[in-house]
Amino acid sequence: MTGVASEPRPMKFVVDCMLGKLAKWLKILGFDTVYHSAADDDQILSLAQKENRAILSRDTQLLARAGELSGRYIESEFWPDQVRQVLAAFDLWDKTAPYTRCLDCNTPLKPLSREKARNLVSPFVLERAKEFSLCPSCDRVFWQGTHFEAMEARLSELLRREGPGKAGSSDQA
Ligand SMILES: [Zn+2]
Repeated sequence: MTGVASEPRPMKFVVDCMLGKLAKWLKILGFDTVYHSAADDDQILSLAQKENRAILSRDTQLLARAGELSGRYIESEFWPDQVRQVLAAFDLWDKTAPYTRCLDCNTPLKPLSREKARNLVSPFVLERAKEFSLCPSCDRVFWQGTHFEAMEARLSELLRREGPGKAGSSDQA
């Protein structure tokens, strides 16, 4: 026994088509998450098996078919509670890496220097954003600052561990 914790495999998910907001926020938090709004049960099951992804669903029939595959019934209909359930169920509170994954294609982002961002974003964004990153797969540029502020407020609310907050009331952001 060395006492050194072995690094577990990073958690990967496939999210069923009813849970788009959950999928989006898992990606914002940096988790490898596949979601297609039109995926059927067979596609979800085969992705889970091939890519070793945990299935997140509110469909008990789908989860029953998952058998040995890793899956989790999502209890709430309210997405912040869904995110918290997933973080708690898979012990991911300390493994979040916000803004490290492309929200379009799920690819890990690469840092982008301000110099290079200059040609890719508007002067407005260039002036106000703090950091930039680029998706090496679809070339989309992401930045923090400006419009991320609303997202960051939500994120810090989400990551407060006290458990489910009151539903509603945070939609002003
Ligand atoms: Zn991308």
